[in-house]
Amino acid sequence: MADIIQLLPDHVANQIAAGEVVQRPASVVKELLENAIDADASLVKLIIKDAGKTLIQVIDNGKGMSNTDARLSFERHATSKIRSADDLFNIHSKGFRGEALASIAAVAHVALKSKQDQEEIGTEIKIEGSEVLSQEVVATPKGTSVAVKNLFYNVPARRNFLKSNNVELRHIIDEFHRVALAHPNISFSMFHNTAELFNLPESNVRQRIVNIFGPKTNEKLVPVEEQTEIVKISGFVGKPEFARKTRGEQFFFVNNRFIKNSYLNHSVNSAFEGLLRERTHASYFLYLEVDAKSIDINIHPTKTEIKFEDEHTLYAILRAATRHSLGQFSIAPVLDFERDSNLDTPYNYKDKTANIPNVEFDKAFNPFQEEMGKAKGAISYKKEQSAGWESLYVGLESKGNKTQQEFSQVQFESDPQSPSMFDGKDTNSQLKTFQLHNKYIVNAIKMGMLVIDQHRAHQRILYESFLQSITIEEAVSQQLLFPLSLNFSTIEVAVLQGLKLQLEQTGFMFSKLDHDEVELTGIPVSVSEVSVSIVLERLINDVENQVPDSHFSQSDLISKSLAKSLAIKSGQKLTSAEQEHLVNSLFACKEPSITPSNTPTFITLSSDDLDKKFK
Ligand code: ADP
Ligand code: MG
Repeated sequence: MADIIQLLPDHVANQIAAGEVVQRPASVVKELLENAIDADASLVKLIIKDAGKTLIQVIDNGKGMSNTDARLSFERHATSKIRSADDLFNIHSKGFRGEALASIAAVAHVALKSKQDQEEIGTEIKIEGSEVLSQEVVATPKGTSVAVKNLFYNVPARRNFLKSNNVELRHIIDEFHRVALAHPNISFSMFHNTAELFNLPESNVRQRIVNIFGPKTNEKLVPVEEQTEIVKISGFVGKPEFARKTRGEQFFFVNNRFIKNSYLNHSVNSAFEGLLRERTHASYFLYLEVDAKSIDINIHPTKTEIKFEDEHTLYAILRAATRHSLGQFSIAPVLDFERDSNLDTPYNYKDKTANIPNVEFDKAFNPFQEEMGKAKGAISYKKEQSAGWESLYVGLESKGNKTQQEFSQVQFESDPQSPSMFDGKDTNSQLKTFQLHNKYIVNAIKMGMLVIDQHRAHQRILYESFLQSITIEEAVSQQLLFPLSLNFSTIEVAVLQGLKLQLEQTGFMFSKLDHDEVELTGIPVSVSEVSVSIVLERLINDVENQVPDSHFSQSDLISKSLAKSLAIKSGQKLTSAEQEHLVNSLFACKEPSITPSNTPTFITLSSDDLDKKFK
């Protein structure tokens, strides 16, 4: 078969957005998957070892390469996808820069095998740090396999900069999701250290989303469809009631390419206005098809940012289409949506300024009003909670748990500094405190005054109490009247499974925890039922973004995350009993002066400092 790869002439190569393509294992995954798609593969397999640090391999059944092309593919600016500078503005393939394989081969050990359909025999190239070690004939199935080993073996600074396996794998899975969502008509599978993480058969978009994010996703999806002269929109948005605190499932695809675009993101969010609970984020999977000539993909080396010719009009159309779907599918029955006739009539987008569609709906309608009220009451520490100030002492409180009571007592007494700070008085009584701006607790002490940050202090208290529960394995759990079932994706459940033991030790009791099913029969006393899902969501998020650090164990991470979620916030008014209790509990801690993330919990102002100010 004819060779198709050519070196781009300098003047074209020079117009290609310069910059680093290979930043981490996930970048390699993205480039290799995209090459497989450009080769018209119908079956793509991704194999990862040690979060890509040891091996990243992509095997496809695409059109393969001739011997010469296989060799040429590793040259910089060698591509079969564009020929001239004009082509840069009419791109129909994922790749066009001709740089990926060259950049990857410069920093790894690469083995490429490829065979074209009509050939008997294929070719295998081994290349290390840009140096070709061998090219030999090989028996191999139709298509291409690229194995990238020991990434950054010759760039120690880069290799050391890589995050923990958890984090790198998360990035890889993100890239895999993006490519797999953009091409539901292609079968994808992914393996990590021999375990199969995903097996996605060819399907429609909805099925692909469900196969990735779990069967429960299906009922959450609302279809969005719109066709105008300048854009065809299809896909789904998540029903507002399933919106989550963490920004996660937000995907734009433009001409089957995942892109990031904060302006369009804003457009979709604005369509959700009035429908989302506070600080939750809409999820969406939106596919835009536009004329390839109306976008510029060549503005960023990783090709995830693109420039639209007419972003304003797109904004308006996208917003109206989303709003329309939310209304039509009785998400908000009161929505009175008036379709903007502009969207139906073809118009010339080149000369026309955006016409913001006139969307009418009942602004006052809020389907979550009731639920929001509930949530607020439970998350904040309301007085009507049974134990008043004791709620500050959650986890350390007695409730028949003597060990914990004794523990805090022991710590308190063995702490040589704390009692003396309070003017020699018995700290448990006579503590004079004052709350400043519902944020700080001010205390007179022997040497002057103490200003405690209530949120940070409570974090320290909760942190030590959770850590203690985990290590002494004796948590106080509240039994739920009815099992609580929560919505999480398969990956999130996998994260929770990894933490199950420790979570149980803090008081979570799982009756189900597999695939995408999570059901709880008990939760820690310090967690209210309505906040469970947020607390676990944040925990998953924290685990996934964890920076590698050998002295942070998982128990530590869980305690930290829970403490952060559950600590009283600034802005919360505290009674003097609560303030006093907070101060006492803080100084009963092993390390009262810093939060689990090493920021100060209090500062002191000495009388000398004050005296100086009055001079
Ligand atoms: P680009 O994708 O921007 O053209 P790459 O460096 O990723 O640049 O790839 C260089 C060339 O190698 C491609 O243009 C293509 O012709 C060929 N190639 C790379 N991967 C594959 C594959 N999996 N199957 C067939 N051809 C491939
Ligand atoms: Mg490429």
